[in-house]
Amino acid sequence: MTYYDSHVHSKNSKDGVPSVDAICERAVSMGLGGVAITDHADVDLGESELDVLRALEDDVSAAREKYGGRLEISMGVELGDGNHNQALAEKIVSQESLDFVIGSIHRQRERKDYYYLDYEHEDIDDLMRGYYRELRELVRGGCFDVVGHINYQIRYMNAAARARLDLSLYYDILREILEDVARAGKGIEINTSGLWRGVGFTIPTLEVARMFRDAGGEIITTGSDSHRAEHVGLKLDGALECLKAAGFRRFAFFKGRKPFFHDI
Ligand SMILES: [Zn+2]
Repeated sequence: MTYYDSHVHSKNSKDGVPSVDAICERAVSMGLGGVAITDHADVDLGESELDVLRALEDDVSAAREKYGGRLEISMGVELGDGNHNQALAEKIVSQESLDFVIGSIHRQRERKDYYYLDYEHEDIDDLMRGYYRELRELVRGGCFDVVGHINYQIRYMNAAARARLDLSLYYDILREILEDVARAGKGIEINTSGLWRGVGFTIPTLEVARMFRDAGGEIITTGSDSHRAEHVGLKLDGALECLKAAGFRRFAFFKGRKPFFHDI
């Protein structure tokens, strides 16, 4: 089985900044078939986020020259909170150099990134409904190939907060969103950070992957969400197990904004 990591960061990171070259070297040493470098571009930070892509273009072409034939390298972006500024989101995703766009919600309007919230003092129900409200907007805006790490916020909840959460309360809303994604011919990702960070499950979980399949969804990418070279490619086997259990027989890797499928 050849694994593909479609969610790897080289810049704009709070955790560390591996170079594209270091990422590719690691990917080759792990025997991966390909990586998509998906640095963050957050529309709330304004037009300057276009520079993220310009910087990446040079790094990716250099890496393609060096690793060509051994590793497929996609030039991607993780477009954060694109629904907060649709015009800028459209401008970012229209860049011709892009192979792949992950669309993610990291924070609600006027609020902090879910990473920084104090879940002991949050109204979990309000938070979840707000997340899905924004996710629906993002999906309807259409500036993505796959939706990133659905239920991102759960990654940062501690055990006590998670115990107060009954995810099934939100399945009706989520099902509608996944139907919109499938109808648009777009996909979701299975993000393995929940596995290698010790949360204990993929993000999203198997139930959500099943729901996407039942909604007619076909496109799923697998990604580590690594911000360090040593996290590249981690637990991709867990993502494929999840896909298989959900009834999928293949996963996708994007080039030129088109999915190329690989059998599991
Ligand atoms: Zn993200």
